[in-house]
Amino acid sequence: MSDIKVIIAGPRGRMGREAVQLVERTENYQLVAAIDYKYDGKLLQDVDGFGSSEVPVYGDIEKCLALVEADVLIDLTTPEIGMHHTKTALLHGIRPVVGTTGFSKEDLAELQSICEEKEIGCIIAPNFAIGAVLMMKFSQLAGKYFHDVEIIELHHDQKLDAPSGTAVKTAQMISAVREQKIQGHPNEKETIQGARGADFEGMHIHSVRLPGLIAHQQVMFGSDGQTLTIRHDSYNRASFMSGVKLAVDTVVKLDTFVYGLENIIE
Ligand code: NAP
Repeated sequence: MSDIKVIIAGPRGRMGREAVQLVERTENYQLVAAIDYKYDGKLLQDVDGFGSSEVPVYGDIEKCLALVEADVLIDLTTPEIGMHHTKTALLHGIRPVVGTTGFSKEDLAELQSICEEKEIGCIIAPNFAIGAVLMMKFSQLAGKYFHDVEIIELHHDQKLDAPSGTAVKTAQMISAVREQKIQGHPNEKETIQGARGADFEGMHIHSVRLPGLIAHQQVMFGSDGQTLTIRHDSYNRASFMSGVKLAVDTVVKLDTFVYGLENIIE
């Protein structure tokens, strides 16, 4: 099998650095370029911490794709530029694996329709941690039997979007099986706005942001006389890389749009 040629957007970021290491140490992967607006025209070795890597860095995706042949784009940037990268990659026939979170419903619908039209694969994974994906699946199972649920997601304080993509995805998965219910007392009132968190079809989502945290989520279910708590913790960004690898290996064989790693984990 020939090597999978990979471009990484956001190599200087915390996720991007781990992804560069993953690609460089994986036998049948080849890192062919990186996209970073601060290092246009340089080599990865010019960026602190990348040793002697001679991979070229491009300031924008258009220039990169005009000059480099690739199979997969891994995007780990910010929602606005990540959307632009993903769309441009698809239009050039390159399959995206996107870890960037914060895409809107409209963004996802647009990407899905490009994939359908061009019959090309794309994986958007708000959480690459396999344990987190299992937490979502277990929560969906519990949601069939417990109709009251609160989601508490906890992240580092540099995270831009709230609630997290994982929390929203968990709520969507529970909602698909849960009996519709507006939770709490019908007359409950917040004396400080936001005290009950965000409302997703009657379920509440709470976002905690603190330095020291990485990515954590607790899904609490309650019914008469019992609670059930399902919790997952990512302690470092290496925890996401087995999921990135699974997504890259899968996307090269895929002709459809996939949102969420749970759809490729049996
Ligand atoms: P980060 O450390 O802030 O890295 C983001 C990188 O993107 C930075 O190097 C940033 O550069 C770069 N960037 C910003 N604008 C850019 C542009 N126009 N072109 C190219 N690069 C640009 O964040 P992170 O923790 O690595 O997370 C990256 C993304 O992945 C976020 O959306 C985060 O929520 C998500 N995430 C996903 C998972 C998952 O499992 N799916 C896990 C963790 C994080 P500057 O520093 O110069 O702005």
